[in-house]
Amino acid sequence: MYPQIEINLEKLEDNARRLISLCREQGISVSLVTKVLAGNKEIVERLASLGFSHIADSRLENLELFKGIKLQKMLLRLPMISEAERVVETADLSLNSEIETIKALNKAARELHTVHKIILMFDLGDLREGVFYRDDYSGLIREILALENIELTGIGANLTCYGGVIPDQDNLNELIAIKNKIETGFGIKLRIISGGNSSSLYLLKKNQIPEGINNLRIGEALFLGRETAFGKRFAGLHEDAFILKAELIEVKEKPSYPIGSIFMDSFGKIPKIVDKGPMRRGILAIGKQDVYPENLIPLGDYEVIGGSSDHIILELAGDLKVGDVLAFRVNYPGLLQLMSSKYVHHVYL
Ligand SMILES: *Cc1c(COP(=O)(O)O)cnc(C)c1O
Repeated sequence: MYPQIEINLEKLEDNARRLISLCREQGISVSLVTKVLAGNKEIVERLASLGFSHIADSRLENLELFKGIKLQKMLLRLPMISEAERVVETADLSLNSEIETIKALNKAARELHTVHKIILMFDLGDLREGVFYRDDYSGLIREILALENIELTGIGANLTCYGGVIPDQDNLNELIAIKNKIETGFGIKLRIISGGNSSSLYLLKKNQIPEGINNLRIGEALFLGRETAFGKRFAGLHEDAFILKAELIEVKEKPSYPIGSIFMDSFGKIPKIVDKGPMRRGILAIGKQDVYPENLIPLGDYEVIGGSSDHIILELAGDLKVGDVLAFRVNYPGLLQLMSSKYVHHVYL
């Protein structure tokens, strides 16, 4: 049934093994970041036993689906105060930056007679989540350490998410400086120093991850084979573990430029279309409800030129005909959309 996403579990296992062993050589554990899978348990079950330290996801709904899998669960997105109890029930540890939320987690953990572990996030300049690294955080640490049902397990940073700031030895050394300051200032040991996501991997290859960083949270490199600081293929990982296949429902020779007065397309944008003369055009039975056309990478003699909610329009070369099935690789936003669409069938290889 089409559209379908073909999931090559062996390629994913290969990628997982390589990443885990590369990190292990440098004393770094890998948290398996599953959020792009939108709760797909088949894939997570296959990967969970290969040596990851945690299953990490942004959404509790997904972590709840992975409940039966024996690996510690890490909540990646900062918790909502309103879901504190569910966080403590579902996740062994969560990333945090707000004392009010941490207090709510403490209260929930007390009521559930347990201890909830947290990783305190520091913002090293990318300006997404975390305590700003130049601020004075000693009062915050003191408050956290006073909470009986919270364990400050570690600290972490997240880069290349909002500001596009790439990890380097300077900013990661700031994280190590924070670790040292907290450990000596408060006489505690931080077990996890989590130095980022797939954008930190290029440093690993160059042996430039500062001593002391002992965890990375990896999604994109594992699933799509790319590091994300420079968008390059990483360490020979497979880039094609996920392949989208969709079927042509129309193939016709038509002009490339619309006829009539042009205003808005179906998504309210004014289209920019170049007149290339007559063109062989195809329409695929998949649309923006499933994936935005710009997120597809064609694996043949065809080019994506646009789309609407239920159609993707292509320029075709060669002799493709109605009923033919075309294949595409996808980028990370594309994979996220496809895995989230209930109209895209999953096929396991
Ligand atoms: C998504 C996410 C990651 C993983 O990022 P990738 O680029 O997919 O490796 C790591 N940490 C946090 C906090 C995230 O939200």
